[in-house]
Amino acid sequence: MLDALQRPLGSLRISVTDRCNLRCRYCMPEDDYVWLPRTSILTFEEIARLSSVFASQGVRKVRLTGGEPLLRHDLPTLVGMLARDARIEDLSLTTNGLLLAKQAAVLRAAGLMRVTVSLDTLRPERMLAFAKSQRHADVLEGIAAVRASGFEKLKLNAVVIRGFNDDELADLIEFGRRHDAEVRFIEYMDVGGATRWSREQVVSQQEMLDTLTRRYGAIEPIAGHGAAPAERFRLPDGTTFGIIASVTAPFCRTCDRSRVTADGTWFLCLYAGTGVDLRERLRGGATDEELAALIRDTWQGRTDRGAEERLGVADRGALYRIDSLRADPHREMHTRGG
Ligand code: SAM
Ligand code: SF4
Ligand code: SF4
Repeated sequence: MLDALQRPLGSLRISVTDRCNLRCRYCMPEDDYVWLPRTSILTFEEIARLSSVFASQGVRKVRLTGGEPLLRHDLPTLVGMLARDARIEDLSLTTNGLLLAKQAAVLRAAGLMRVTVSLDTLRPERMLAFAKSQRHADVLEGIAAVRASGFEKLKLNAVVIRGFNDDELADLIEFGRRHDAEVRFIEYMDVGGATRWSREQVVSQQEMLDTLTRRYGAIEPIAGHGAAPAERFRLPDGTTFGIIASVTAPFCRTCDRSRVTADGTWFLCLYAGTGVDLRERLRGGATDEELAALIRDTWQGRTDRGAEERLGVADRGALYRIDSLRADPHREMHTRGG
């Protein structure tokens, strides 16, 4: 099934909670937030049913995210329910890692296939300043636990911000090499929630490559990233890494991703102003066929190219002001899932 720009419905990110135990400056810089009402949060049964209907329409990859997904009570049970669906070929999780040490083995046993851990800095004092947490050691323990639990692949995500961690690119690559993990550098995006965003703080893909070339020598691009957001590269010694250049070289033309928030609102793009309320249909007694028809009709009309459209915005600044985020928390990255 293709959208209006011939892009398939291939991957679904499911946010299981809008709560988080970090306060990353690029995602949740404010002192307080408006949360989704608890009664609106989908149950595991509702999430599994939606996932199954999406799978019937072509979704093959599901990524659990949040907020911080490991804050959702009993997450391995949900993983087990989703893993039973043979149509889901790739079931993964994006986490900040704080609670991972205890849960990695159980999640693996439940059927989780891949884990991505967000690791922006190797310096605990920077994490304290930038994410208001002293628990850097817990993240490192979480990463070790993933490695010890038999996951085939581990990715480490780092949002690169000028003046914060742009001097750690090589250190992060070395850390990844030591832990058999592939590092992916992410350009700082002006998504909802990033109220402190400015163009000057964005370190572009080209700048990252220049820095790493000075350190390692010629870097070779690896061809063919398909619908994956990261472009991958190889250092002269064979080490690979990725860059997600959503700001300077967006990849909307191949985007097969959409997102369901913890309260069942379906967004066709990270930048989309509005979403489709699937919870209302689900709780209102819609059949699987009716849900599938809604998903099909909506996807076939999809024309979203949010990041590409942002390229044309003169005087680009934060996408939403705080009052508008408070008026509708669905606009927040931590609600929508990264
Ligand atoms: N809490 C989990 C975590 O941090 O991994 C999962 C949710 S988080 C919203 C998912 C991803 O979005 C993370 O890798 C995070 O770094 C990324 N992210 C959040 N805000 C961002 C921004 N302004 N620009 C680029 N990436 C961002
Ligand atoms: Fe940081 Fe993820 Fe929490 Fe956002 S949701 S504040 S990126 S840990
Ligand atoms: Fe996909 Fe929207 Fe991101 Fe473009 S901005 S890659 S269309 S989610």
